[in-house]
Amino acid sequence: MIVRPKTRGFICITAHPEGCAAHVEQWVEYVRKQGPIANAPKRVLVVGSSTGYGLASRVTAAFGGGAATLGVYFEKPSEPDRLGTAGWYNTIAFERSARAAGLYAKSINGDAFSDPVKQQAIDLIRADLGQIDLLIYSLASPRRTHPKTGVVSKSVLKPLGEAYASKTVDTDRWLVNPVAIEPATEQEVADTVTVMGGEDWRMWVDALEAAGVMAPGFSTVAYSYIGPDLTWAIYRNGTIGKAKEDLEKTAHELHTRLAVGGGRAFVSVNKALVTQASSAIPVVPLYISLLYRVMKEKGLHEGCIEQMRRLFARLYQDHPTPVDSEGRIRIDDWEMREDIQKAVEALWSQVTTENLQQLADTAGYREEFLKLFGFGLPGIDYEAETEPHLAG
Ligand code: NAD
Repeated sequence: MIVRPKTRGFICITAHPEGCAAHVEQWVEYVRKQGPIANAPKRVLVVGSSTGYGLASRVTAAFGGGAATLGVYFEKPSEPDRLGTAGWYNTIAFERSARAAGLYAKSINGDAFSDPVKQQAIDLIRADLGQIDLLIYSLASPRRTHPKTGVVSKSVLKPLGEAYASKTVDTDRWLVNPVAIEPATEQEVADTVTVMGGEDWRMWVDALEAAGVMAPGFSTVAYSYIGPDLTWAIYRNGTIGKAKEDLEKTAHELHTRLAVGGGRAFVSVNKALVTQASSAIPVVPLYISLLYRVMKEKGLHEGCIEQMRRLFARLYQDHPTPVDSEGRIRIDDWEMREDIQKAVEALWSQVTTENLQQLADTAGYREEFLKLFGFGLPGIDYEAETEPHLAG
């Protein structure tokens, strides 16, 4: 099969198996080049391990820390003559590289919100690893079936209280368009918190603790975003922001609980980056394409892997782990620097369809987006036949 990118709005419905492997390999090489992370954990569970920040965390844990990793993710497997999703191919490539390096790597493809998947993870930990030292929680999901009630909740990306008008970019045609979003209902806010808040993270910690598979000094980290004023109405002060508030509250509760056994729970606030999850948020892709331009000009640009390498260094090399006044790790520190935000704001006020290509890093955005699906990687012959079916 010859595999080409087929984009539909903010998603690409094809993924290139060898391209995805090359992308994973770039991350592995980056982490290897940085050298080992001192005091890194040796047994790591990553929930949301197949793409974006979760995959970058797994690569960092394995190739920066020499960790055995267990990944949990939700992807469509390939079949003979049918492509799988990018995360399917990423996971196969990661496991292959990890095993070639002599590292344990197994994965569960299933619904992390469910009790059976948690049990499966616990069974594997018991059988293969004994205990785990670190749980990374990196889920981004549009829906959740509650494991106790069976109720399905859907998350929405909407402002609270009043309608919000701003501009956004159509990343298919690179048009800057006005966008108006009606405020969320109370039910939508509650549902978004159910999907993206802290309850499921707590359930993972509860299940691991009850099963006795947490090593002494166990740490856990979940990911959040804050961002600047210009995205606040849709992000921090919107439905997703309410969910992130709940996640942060959960971090405090878990931290207090785990501290008794010398453990820790943190939220890490990460940088805005092109991932499958972020490209679906209105307004954010325009902000990201301006941010990339500014951060690249200042030599401060990072992708998921650079961010996660820095996070692991903070978690395990810096004593104590530096946190802000709310107890959060701030890997978004460079994004939020005053000079960066002032420059982005100035571009934001001017940007239109006509000057978009001059003001924003549209090429960089597009390149990163396609890379998520294995396209545009050096050394891959995209005109050649490729085998779509890779067994996990
Ligand atoms: P992503 O879409 O790249 O990754 C999401 C992961 O979750 C994938 O591995 C997917 O398989 C997995 N997943 C989704 N539903 C699942 C389910 N039911 N069961 C098992 N696995 C499931 O997203 P991302 O951007 O890397 O986001 C990860 C976290 O980082 C989120 O909490 C997000 O809010 C946060 N974050 C993202 C950004 C950003 O700009 N992308 C910035 C800061 C924080």
